[in-house]
Amino acid sequence: MKVEHIGIAVRSLESAEQLFAKLLGSESYKRETVESESVTTSFFKAGETKIELLEATSPASVISTYIEKRGEGIHHIAFEVEDIHQEMARLQEAGFRLLNSAPKRGADNKWVCFVHPKDCNGVLVELCQELR
Ligand code: ZN
Repeated sequence: MKVEHIGIAVRSLESAEQLFAKLLGSESYKRETVESESVTTSFFKAGETKIELLEATSPASVISTYIEKRGEGIHHIAFEVEDIHQEMARLQEAGFRLLNSAPKRGADNKWVCFVHPKDCNGVLVELCQELR
């Protein structure tokens, strides 16, 4: 439906929040920890799209691993979908590998599923559907 948000891996949520508040001219409107992913997220609005800053809460977090390997930066692009199960089936059919076999609970009241970056020109793609 649209680019729902862009996820950015950061070392320090504290300083990244200050930077993005300056950049976007508005404060973060929500902080949320996703225990299952060992991340704390912070959301900014940028028009129709959001910026999701991601900080690891443990060294075992995927965000820690990402920053170790590639440094801070864009971690994923999230597309909002109407029906996540239908989109997962469509993509699988088209040969994309999905990183989770069933949608899981993400931040910001969403069902999420990730598509393997190797199948998307190195870009980690997230599908997300609003929880209803
Ligand atoms: Zn995300």
